[in-house]
Amino acid sequence: MSQLPSLTLNDGHTIPQLGFGVFQIPPAETRAATETAIRIGYRHIDTAEMYNNERGVGEAVASSGLDRAEFFITSKLSNAAHKPDDARRAFDRTLEELGSDHVDLFLIHWPLPMLYDGDFVQTWRTLEEFKADGRARSIGVSNFTPAHLQRLAQESEVTPAVNQIEIHPYFTNDETRQFDASHQIVNESYSPIAQGEVLDDSTITSIAKAVGKTPAQVVLRWHIQRGDVIFPKSKTESRVRENFEIFDFELDNASMNAISSLDRGEKGRTGGNPDTMDWVPKS
Ligand code: NDP
Repeated sequence: MSQLPSLTLNDGHTIPQLGFGVFQIPPAETRAATETAIRIGYRHIDTAEMYNNERGVGEAVASSGLDRAEFFITSKLSNAAHKPDDARRAFDRTLEELGSDHVDLFLIHWPLPMLYDGDFVQTWRTLEEFKADGRARSIGVSNFTPAHLQRLAQESEVTPAVNQIEIHPYFTNDETRQFDASHQIVNESYSPIAQGEVLDDSTITSIAKAVGKTPAQVVLRWHIQRGDVIFPKSKTESRVRENFEIFDFELDNASMNAISSLDRGEKGRTGGNPDTMDWVPKS
């Protein structure tokens, strides 16, 4: 594994705190973008079946010449594949696309409480099979609220290793974040810079100026100091490098608090609401 800081999951595996996200990187560009990230030093990559670019990630890992064991690769179940047999087939396809006999982490991408009779528990039990047979080293969820997590705790065996949720200065998502922390579930913050929306905020630009870093580096550092896992996405090499250079400075408490106070609650959300999200890709 790389020299990046890592966190220990509730099942004993470790995860690098910084990774590279590939959402919205077109399939044909994913291999080159991921190769760039690997060259810069990233070893943790976050993809998903619904991103249609797992193959590019797998090709970049293979072409790196590094051992598969150097990498931490996450993928996520498609919203179209929540029924157990569909999930089993989809997971087989994920491993095939990635060209690997395992993933380090596999997630339910969305709970979809309005679909599949709201039965994300049966989907979770199917992921438990993938963990039991070793093809998913760790399993977790994404976009789960405390209510969804409580239901899993009552009706299944394995506690999710992570909950991947939207978190950034305009949407600090404190309730879910605190629930995760108190149940030994690691928080992964997706859209960590709100897809760029927080970068012009005057609080952030003035802190950036004071510490001699860019606004993106300041926001990413805020996540790291809060103890969350992040995987900013960029197709731009200079930004991929910039996002990696966040371990040579520290934010003081006043700066940390000033950034946290930018929270806009529900209005700050850029992505879907987990209670109502019902989008399913056409197969
Ligand atoms: P991010 O918050 O990572 O923002 C990405 C955007 O910011 C892109 O437009 C990128 O532009 C730009 N950008 C990146 N770095 C910089 C920088 N240093 N300076 C200025 N602009 C920058 O958004 P994402 O939504 O992509 O989230 C990151 C990852 O989280 C995803 O790739 C995915 O892995 C995961 N995710 C998971 C979700 C889920 O439901 N589980 C939902 C959404 C994301 P450009 O590429 O043009 O350089």
